[in-house]
Amino acid sequence: MIINLDKILVGEKLDVIEHAYIQIEDGVITDIEQTWSPDGLNIGGIALPLPVNAHVHLNDYVAPESCIGYDLASFVGSKGIKLPITRLLRHKFVDNPLARSISIYYALADFQEHKDYCRENKELIEKNGPRYLGLSRPFNPLDTVEYDDVARICDGIGISNPLRIPPYVMEEISRLSLICPVSAHVSETRRMEERGSLHYLLNYRVKLVSVVHGIFLKKWELRQLAEEDIPLVVCPRSNLWFIGRMADIATALKEGVTIALGTDNAGCFHPDIFAEMELLFTIYRGNIDAREIVKMTFINGYKALGTSPRFIDVRQPADMLVLREPRLARYSWNVYGSIIRRGSYCNKLVVRDGVIIKSFN
Ligand SMILES: [Zn+2]
Repeated sequence: MIINLDKILVGEKLDVIEHAYIQIEDGVITDIEQTWSPDGLNIGGIALPLPVNAHVHLNDYVAPESCIGYDLASFVGSKGIKLPITRLLRHKFVDNPLARSISIYYALADFQEHKDYCRENKELIEKNGPRYLGLSRPFNPLDTVEYDDVARICDGIGISNPLRIPPYVMEEISRLSLICPVSAHVSETRRMEERGSLHYLLNYRVKLVSVVHGIFLKKWELRQLAEEDIPLVVCPRSNLWFIGRMADIATALKEGVTIALGTDNAGCFHPDIFAEMELLFTIYRGNIDAREIVKMTFINGYKALGTSPRFIDVRQPADMLVLREPRLARYSWNVYGSIIRRGSYCNKLVVRDGVIIKSFN
């Protein structure tokens, strides 16, 4: 199969090449040439790697907007309303708006509150295309045996608040982190920062595939993340809604931190990663390069899952998202800016392993 495109963002740096074709054989990209092929499908548009949603809580989609009127503790805390809501309401939650939104992702990392939902959710989500990485936790945070169960049933461990875990359990998590991915919320609140949520994990040598939020992390701690090669996942809408601020992204980038994006609670924020990119770009008013923000979703997201980016290049798997808007593809003055600002509203086409999956708004 040969696809003719207006623009292709190639390689890990997402360099733009214009008016080019991609040749695909057996699910792999075999050639990219800067011309249109007479044998090609004239798809046009902007071809990107598939995006990654590096942090989401899908369960609360059963109760949209249930977070309104609650603060972080009374919504997601150990005595918050989210846990009982997501336990009691178990109706089918992957309906059209959610299925459509998640079908563009290469993968989602779901912080799964109930370990017994991991397998069912994996089946539901993967039926819509993306890979599902269920990172869960035990019902009883003091039970080390239950952590072993989580590692067996789910894809890995998602720590909601490291400070609630006693040292003997942290030792077990440290051991498990060598065999399955472990991610954790850190410094989401000032209290978590002051009590050293990140350092507690690092002191116990928990191998972290990513840390999430890091709102109050200081410069020296951001440098430590860069040195230890731990990606930081930020969720701009959630962070502003619940806390009123977000991690110091400009400093984190200067320190060399790999930053990825997530959409956090699906019951409060629709899992649309373009909305996160646009908010981040707006907060920094263009003082963070648009290409850096696009990389957060289309390259760094993979790193935050502990996998290699599936960027567009020869000999890579033929996975891509095509934004099919001729005006953007041909006339944009800043293609990265257009992807951030208008990606949500574009007609899209998804290619997975060389197969055109579908075209939709
Ligand atoms: Zn979260």
